[in-house]
Amino acid sequence: MTIRHHEIEHFRRELEAKRAELTGPRDAEGIAIERAADSVDEVVLANERELVVERLNREANLIRQIAGALERITTGEYGICLECAGPISAKRLTALPWAALCLSCQESADREPGEPAMPRPSSSILEAA
Ligand SMILES: [Zn+2]
Repeated sequence: MTIRHHEIEHFRRELEAKRAELTGPRDAEGIAIERAADSVDEVVLANERELVVERLNREANLIRQIAGALERITTGEYGICLECAGPISAKRLTALPWAALCLSCQESADREPGEPAMPRPSSSILEAA
């Protein structure tokens, strides 16, 4: 099964929209945390910072995956598993347009920790979808 051209265009738009969403302005959040500094317990504040940092890391990861997917669109390798070179199903790409691995390779990557071919966040997103 090959992904058709208009489908790739669709995924490209999805990827670009998602990236724009992730790289958009987020000043309000940082300001809110700074402002809370006077009234909130130091520990709570540190906790909150940690959560924000964690989320930003996750998002940075996702942005990298999106950039990789957009690059694969350019090189004509989009929808092809990086691990086994098999096709990634359209259903999987619809749920996860930046998927770099087919489902079975992703599953074995998830099972084997260390050197993940793909970072964790994607699988939790897949489960939520
Ligand atoms: Zn595969």
